[in-house]
Amino acid sequence: MFNKKSVTDVDVHGKRVLVRVDFNVPISDGNVSDDTRIRAALPTIEYLLQHGASVILASHLGRPKAGPEAKFSLRPVAAYLSKLMGMPVEFCEDCIGPKAEAAAKALEPGEVLLLENTRFHPEEEKNNPEMARQLAALADLFVNDAFGSAHRAHASTEGVAHYLPAVAGFLLEKEIRYLGQAVADPKRPFVAILGGAKISDKIGVIRNLLTKADQILIGGGMANTFFKAEGYAMGDSLVEAEVLDTARELLETGKTKIRLPKDVVIADGFKADAASKVIPTGPVPDGWRILDIGPETVAAYAGVVSAAGTVVWNGPMGVFEFPPFAKGTYGVAKAVADSGATSIIGGGESVAAIQQSGLADKITHISTGGGASLEMLEGLTLPGVAALQDK
Ligand code: AMP
Repeated sequence: MFNKKSVTDVDVHGKRVLVRVDFNVPISDGNVSDDTRIRAALPTIEYLLQHGASVILASHLGRPKAGPEAKFSLRPVAAYLSKLMGMPVEFCEDCIGPKAEAAAKALEPGEVLLLENTRFHPEEEKNNPEMARQLAALADLFVNDAFGSAHRAHASTEGVAHYLPAVAGFLLEKEIRYLGQAVADPKRPFVAILGGAKISDKIGVIRNLLTKADQILIGGGMANTFFKAEGYAMGDSLVEAEVLDTARELLETGKTKIRLPKDVVIADGFKADAASKVIPTGPVPDGWRILDIGPETVAAYAGVVSAAGTVVWNGPMGVFEFPPFAKGTYGVAKAVADSGATSIIGGGESVAAIQQSGLADKITHISTGGGASLEMLEGLTLPGVAALQDK
C-alpha cells in the first residue's frame, strides 16, 4: 500500500538531513497562534536527532508575492520550536546560497537548523532545478514530512528529491496510510460527508468517491447548487451557476449514493444575528438564503454515520463560523465522534470545526493537509510522494 522508503529504512547516523516540513502556521503579532502542524512534525525531527543526524528544516509560510516579506518570515517559528523542544534551534535567513551552506556545514549531530521561507525565492513554486540542486547541496539525505505541501511539485517538495536519496517522514507516511487506505480498502459501509462552500473544488473528489463509497452525504453551500440543479429557486443562497450541468450529471450518476439535506436553515442575511427559520428542502423565498442543514437532516445523517465502518469528512455543513448556523456541523461532528467507525477528517475548515466542537480526540485521524487530503480522496498521486524512493 505505502510503498515508499521512510526514515526507518535508511541509515541516518552522522548524516545531515534536509527535512521538508509544513510549518505554514498562522502567525499573529509575531507569535505562532496554532502549533498543530509544528507538533505534527516532531516525531520525525526527534527520531532523526536521537539517531545521530543533524536536522535542517525547510518550509514555506503563506504566499509571499516576490521575494522576502517580514510577515512571512519563519523566524518566530524557530523561536517557538526551540521552546517546544527545549533545545536551541538555529535560524538562517536564507534557505539556499552561501549563508545556508555555511549554517548547514556548521551543524553537529543532534543540532537543528530552520531555514527561512522557501517561497522567498520565486523559483520554489516553479520547481526550478537549480534551486532544488542548491537545497540538496545542504544535506546528505532528504526527508519529506510536509504532507500539506505534497500535492505541489515545488523545488523543496519534489525537485530536491531528484538530487538526494529521498524518503518519507512519519507524518507523511501516516497521512498517506490513513487517507489512502480509507479510499482504497475501507471498512464498510464507507460513508463520505462532503460540505463546504463549493462543488467546483470537489468535483473530482465526488466522482472518485462515487466509485468507492457506499453513501455520500452532502451539506454546506455545496448542497445549494445541487438543489438548484434539481430546479428549486435558491433565493440569495450561494449557488455556482457555472457547474449546474455537472451537478445534474453527478446526481444522475450517483442517484443511489448521494444524499441531500431534507431540511435546511434559512436566514434573511449573511450574518450571525440574521433572522432564521427551518424549512423543508424546496424553494427558498426571495431575500433568504440557506446557511445550515436542518435538524431532521442532522438526525438522518447521524443514523447513516452510526452504522458506518469508515467515515471520511471534508467541509462544514453550514456557516459554522456564525454560532446560530453551527448546529448542523456540530451535530454531524458529534455523530462522527460517537460512531465507533474509523473516522478521518480532511484538512481545512472541517478541522477547525471539529476542534471547536471539542471532539477532536475522538477522531481516528485528523489530516494536516487541506488540498493534499482532497487530492488523496480524488485518488490522485501526490508529486511530493511520487518522487520518493520506492521500498
Ligand atoms: P471549504 O473551504 O470549501 O470547505 O468551505 C468552507 C466554508 O464554507 C466555511 O467557511 C463555511 O462558512 C462555508 N459554508 C458552508 N455552508 C455554507 C452555506 N450554506 N452558504 C455559504 N457558505 C457556506
